[in-house]
Amino acid sequence: MSLTAAALNLAGHALTPGAQRSWWLREALAAEKDSAPQAPLTSEISADVVVIGGGFTGLWTAYHLTQAKPDMKVVVLEQDICGGGPSGRNGGFASGWWDELDGLISLYGRDEAVRACRAISDSINAIGEFCRLHKVDAWYKHAGYLYAATAPQHEAIAEEIVRLAGEVGVPDELQALSPQEVKARCDSPAFRSGAFMRDGASVQPALLARGLRRVLLEWGVIIHEGTPVTRLDAGPPAVAITAGGSVRAPKAVLALNAWAVGWPQLRRRLVAWSSYIVLTAPAPEKLAKIGWTGGELVTDFRTSVRYFRTTRDGRIAFGGGGGRASSRIDDSFTHDMRAVEEAAEGFRRLFPSFADVPLEDAWGGPIDVSPTHLPTFGSLAPGNLFYALGYTGNGVAPSHLAGKVIADLVTGADTDSTRLPMVNRKPRLFPPEPLRSIGAAVVRRAIIAKDTAEERGHHPNPVMLAIARMPRRMGYLLGP
Ligand SMILES: Cc1cc2nc3c(=O)[nH]c(=O)nc-3n(C[C@H](O)[C@H](O)[C@H](O)COP(=O)(O)OP(=O)(O)OC[C@H]3O[C@@H](n4cnc5c(N)ncnc54)[C@H](O)[C@@H]3O)c2cc1C
Repeated sequence: MSLTAAALNLAGHALTPGAQRSWWLREALAAEKDSAPQAPLTSEISADVVVIGGGFTGLWTAYHLTQAKPDMKVVVLEQDICGGGPSGRNGGFASGWWDELDGLISLYGRDEAVRACRAISDSINAIGEFCRLHKVDAWYKHAGYLYAATAPQHEAIAEEIVRLAGEVGVPDELQALSPQEVKARCDSPAFRSGAFMRDGASVQPALLARGLRRVLLEWGVIIHEGTPVTRLDAGPPAVAITAGGSVRAPKAVLALNAWAVGWPQLRRRLVAWSSYIVLTAPAPEKLAKIGWTGGELVTDFRTSVRYFRTTRDGRIAFGGGGGRASSRIDDSFTHDMRAVEEAAEGFRRLFPSFADVPLEDAWGGPIDVSPTHLPTFGSLAPGNLFYALGYTGNGVAPSHLAGKVIADLVTGADTDSTRLPMVNRKPRLFPPEPLRSIGAAVVRRAIIAKDTAEERGHHPNPVMLAIARMPRRMGYLLGP
C-alpha cells in the first residue's frame, strides 16, 4: 500500500521527521525554567573522568560516579544537547528482560541469565526511585508489558517465552494471555493470544534525560553541549579533543550508542538501524473504548517489532515499521518519510478505530544493533576506556545498569554489577565493511517483508525468508 499525506491523515500538519526535535523533547524543554544549552568547551581542561555522549548511558554513568565519589570531577561532552539523541526520542519502554531468557541462557547459562534479568528489574525500579527522590516527573508508571500476537506464527513465540520463564523458576514474571485477555487490556482486531510481563514501566524519556541533566548540574558535574569530540587519544591519560578545546582525564567513557559505528575501537560490534515513531492527537475517549487505560506498554511479535504506548493526555505513540541500516549516522535516521509511512501504516492497521484521529508528529533515531541483540559493558585497551553498547533498541532500563557497571569499573569497585555476565565478555563481531552495512540493509528489508507477509496471512517469499534467517545461520542472535 502506498501512503500519501492524506492517507496518513495528517490533518494539515507538516509532518517532516527530523525538521524538529521529538515531541517528547519539545515538551520537556518547554517545561524547563532555563533550557539554554550548557556552553560548548572552549579551553583545555582536566578531569578525573571524561564522558563522551550525553544520553542515558553517559548521564547515568556520571550520576553513579558522582553518587559514589562526590569529589570526583566528571565532565560530560555532548555534540548536541543532553537527550537530543535517542534517549530523548525513544518509546519510553523501560522493560524487563524476562522475554530475553532464550538468548541470555544460550550466551551465559541459566543462572547468570536469571541474574542479568534481576539486575534489569532492579534498574527499572531504581529509575522510579530516582524520579521520586529528585522530583523528576518523567511520567514513570509501572503498569507492565503486554505482548500481542498479530499472526498465527507469533502465538508459538508467546507460548515459548512463558514456558521458559516457568522452566527457570520465575513463572510470575510472564503469564500467558488468551485473545480475550489480550483484548481486555487493549482491544485491536489484529490481536490474537499473547503474554503479559509484569516488569515494564513507561517513562516520558526526554523528561527523564533532562531530569538527569538537571540533577547532575546541581551536583556540580560539568556538561558541555554543542561539543562533538573529534578524536580521543587513549593515553593514559585519555585526551578528548573537540573543535574548541580538550579534556585530559585518566579515564574516559564512550557513551556513544549508534555513533560508535564511526569509532574504530567499537565499529565491528554493531550495525546502526533506524526506528521511527508516529504520535496521534489526543483521543482519550477512543482509548477508553478499546479499554487501553491501564498504561501498559504493548508490542507485537514481529521480528522488526512494533511498539506502542499511551501518553498522559491520551495519545498513542506508535513505533516500528521500516527503517534503514547504514554504516554512518546521517539524515536517513531522522528524516526518512518512508519509515514514517511504514510506522503509520502499522498504526492504522492495528487501530482502525482511530482512523479519524490525525497523526500530529513523527520522529526517528538510530539504534545500535549488536550481534546478540543484547548490550555489553566493559573496558577497552589500554584499560582506561569504558563503554556500553548494543542495546538494540532496548536501552532505557539497561542504560541505568550500564551507568552503574561503568561507574564501578571506573572506580575499581568489585560489585555484583561488575560480575554480571555481560561485563567484559569477549565481543562478537560483525563482518567488516562494506559487507556489514550492505548485509544489514538487505537483511532488514527481508525481515520486514517476512513480517508483513505473515501478518497478512500469506506465506513469506522463500527467498526473503532465507535472507531474513541468514544472521541466525551465521551464529548471530538476530532475526527469525
Ligand atoms: C525511535 C526509537 C525508539 C526507541 N524506543 C525504545 C524503547 O521504547 N525502550 C528502550 O529501552 N529503548 C528504546 N530505544 C533505544 C534507546 O533510546 C537507546 O538504547 C538509549 O537511549 C541509549 O542511550 P545512550 O545514552 O547509549 O544513547 P544516546 O541517547 O544516543 O546518547 C548518545 C549520545 O552521544 C552523542 N554523541 C555521539 N557522538 C558524539 C561525539 N563524537 N561527541 C560528543 N557526543 C557524541 C549523541 O549526540 C547522543 O546524544 C529507542 C530508540 C529509538 C531511536
